[in-house]
Amino acid sequence: MRFAAASIALVGLLLLGSSCADNEESPFDPDADRTPPELTDFEIESRTPSGGVYALWAASEPVRAVVEYRLEESEQSRYAYSGQREWAEAGITKLVAVSSATTYEIVGVRLTDRAGNETITERDTTFTTGTVDLENLLTIAMIDVGWGDALYLRTPDSHPRHILIDAGHPGQDGLKVREFLEDSFGVNRLDFASMTHVHEDHIGGFYGDDFDGLDGLLLNRGGTGSPFSVGTFLDIRDKTPGTINGPYGDLEFAVDSLRALGKLGEWVFLGPGESSETHEALRWSDMLRVDLLASGKKDFLIPDYSLQEEIGSVQNNDSMVYRVQYGRFVLLLMGDGEFATEQYLQNNWPREFLRASVLKLGHHGSNDSNSERFIDVVQPIVGLIPNAISENPGVEHPYVLNRLRVRGIDYYASDRAIPNRDRAESGVRGDIVIVTDGEAFTVAPINLYYE
Ligand SMILES: [Zn+2]
Repeated sequence: MRFAAASIALVGLLLLGSSCADNEESPFDPDADRTPPELTDFEIESRTPSGGVYALWAASEPVRAVVEYRLEESEQSRYAYSGQREWAEAGITKLVAVSSATTYEIVGVRLTDRAGNETITERDTTFTTGTVDLENLLTIAMIDVGWGDALYLRTPDSHPRHILIDAGHPGQDGLKVREFLEDSFGVNRLDFASMTHVHEDHIGGFYGDDFDGLDGLLLNRGGTGSPFSVGTFLDIRDKTPGTINGPYGDLEFAVDSLRALGKLGEWVFLGPGESSETHEALRWSDMLRVDLLASGKKDFLIPDYSLQEEIGSVQNNDSMVYRVQYGRFVLLLMGDGEFATEQYLQNNWPREFLRASVLKLGHHGSNDSNSERFIDVVQPIVGLIPNAISENPGVEHPYVLNRLRVRGIDYYASDRAIPNRDRAESGVRGDIVIVTDGEAFTVAPINLYYE
């Protein structure tokens, strides 16, 4: 994070980025009709014995559709996406649910047309799920750790693997992540844990807070929690010189302590280009393809890179960038990678390989990342923003939010449980959970609370 420093770095990196927010053009078609789209047909179809429930919809013109539904007698909506990014006049959206034999009610359908007009049509229908096979679902959770980043993955297997990428800030976040995993998913050990980069808002939750005696996920600092055991800890190979002191020293201590307790399998250091095809540490599931698209220094890209070793962006641009593919669903996790990371990805990977269903935005949604050009390469259906807002106003940038909205991309931030809200409209926080069958996916904000 480190904002002041990051903005200094930005000056040096402007040439690499393509973001010029003042003259951004809306990709919505300016010649399109200004008439809002209408929902012309809507039907729920349950298919047995698969237990799948589908919303069949039709509209007056080509649209993108999101179906909103919720548990009966609950105000917590879930948002269903078909997994298609093409504009269509009709479609079938699978309502990917996680509970068997459960009754949900449809709240409504949101349609967006190519001119950016949006219509929300309310519906008053219920549906009941059949037997839901959890083995077929990949679960992704962006845990609300406030200032920081923590992302959990549960693999689509009969014996699911549990993966945690980053663990938030040293304060309470280790406890928050521990509680989330135990209470929401019954998980008290990890098959794989990874950092993205050396900043404390990402790795602090692993080691906790020495001063206040707060436990980390991997280290008991005097509290009562027992450290989680970890199969494999994934770390950056070839970190930029000068970036490995401070918080990273605390992390090394925690991982070493875990090893001394016999609770760590392996500690591996990965460079870019490794994948589940080439490295055991990325073989999280037979059902997933995992690629590490970036990891470590990029001094071959930025000539005076090593001179900037005290600057936040160098550490941010060391971020491990993961691409996780399940069927036709792709998740792209940018860490705190900024413009240099985006440029690196575009230079080194085919365009199609960078396309993602869900993009966790770079650097908490800040404007030194998430350039127009990169967003247009990735073309996500949904953007996730690991929030930094309350403590660091200004990281997430209004230009970035607008950049998503004018492309019809929904975003969810962990300090706003409702999609596409500005910070000022906040008040509700929550963890953002996504479940996918390998194509369609549902976004479900959970554990909501009011600030
Ligand atoms: Zn950060």
